[in-house]
Amino acid sequence: MKVNNIEAFVLTDHLKKSFYFSQWEYCQRKICLVKVTAEDGTIGWGEGYGPADVLSGGVKYLSRYVVGQNPLNSEVIWENLYRRTLDYARSGILMAAVSAIDVAIWDLKGKLLGLPVHQLLGGKKRDRIYPYATGLYFREENDLTRALADEAIEYKEMGYKAVKMKVGLSLKEDIMNIKAVRNAIGDNMELMIDANHAYNLPEAIHLARAVEDLNIGWFEEPISPEFYEQYAELRSKTCISIATGECEYLRFGFHRLLQKNAADILQPDLCACGGLTEAKRIAALASTYGVEIVPHTWGSNVAISAAMHFVANLDTIPGRLKMPEFKLEHDCTANGIRDDVTSPDFKIKNGTIIISDKPGLGVEVDERAMEKYLV
Ligand code: MG
Repeated sequence: MKVNNIEAFVLTDHLKKSFYFSQWEYCQRKICLVKVTAEDGTIGWGEGYGPADVLSGGVKYLSRYVVGQNPLNSEVIWENLYRRTLDYARSGILMAAVSAIDVAIWDLKGKLLGLPVHQLLGGKKRDRIYPYATGLYFREENDLTRALADEAIEYKEMGYKAVKMKVGLSLKEDIMNIKAVRNAIGDNMELMIDANHAYNLPEAIHLARAVEDLNIGWFEEPISPEFYEQYAELRSKTCISIATGECEYLRFGFHRLLQKNAADILQPDLCACGGLTEAKRIAALASTYGVEIVPHTWGSNVAISAAMHFVANLDTIPGRLKMPEFKLEHDCTANGIRDDVTSPDFKIKNGTIIISDKPGLGVEVDERAMEKYLV
């Protein structure tokens, strides 16, 4: 069996209402989906995390090294792509293009073999995982604090047991918003905060200490991903777990984080860090340091499904009679591409989702629905 063709699609959804976080505003959602077709017509889907237009160029450039290869040899394909990009792109968007192709190859491999990706990774070590809602972005509101609290309550009513909110506006506004959201959802729902590296070290320490008694699940990307030592120092100055890794690439990048004691939780994005192939190695590496992994996701159900299969297979460290909960990031922000083009949507029951046993990633991509998002 050989790969016959690779296509990259850039999809754009112009949002009715924009939203923003500590770095920039989203007026549209853009996603690069990758379609890999085998010679028997079987299709695998992948997705990249990063600027979709640039990603699609990367996928087009790399496709020459994949067409004609046997998709069952996913590591061989990965190795070729890695060697062809190493000189120019040890991190960044070209590695995200490698990741998008890798995810599509895993989906294709699963479909060709009639097996779910989690089984190809070694099997699912749990039947269900706990999605946490990613939302609570900033937007123009008369009373943003109130709007955030109301939105958090909606996630609780939808069945989520955990929610993550954006911070990074200013220390004063953040502390006020966090208190309001915690107050609204009560003590039984987990709450995480994400600054998208908006703060310097003294500000991050200040914010962490100011909200320590509000039972914060983790503080994500408090400071710039470049400052490994500052991450370690922040960890020593707060009891809140520190999470990072969505801007990190390959096992080499994650090894730096681990060696510097920079994080309690690593968040590789499977659509950027090197795909499922490399994420499995990152997980093995993290396990030798006893550091937890909760992957970052942002995009369509292709990206979310890749993360679901990966989390299904993660090692249970530490093991115990009452197993710890394994989380999956579930982006709940507006995204017509995710909702119209990719399915199924994940159904939450008792705060959990059942891991799919369908072949490949178990995701359908509606190419007719895709047309309206192609520009
Ligand atoms: Mg984040």
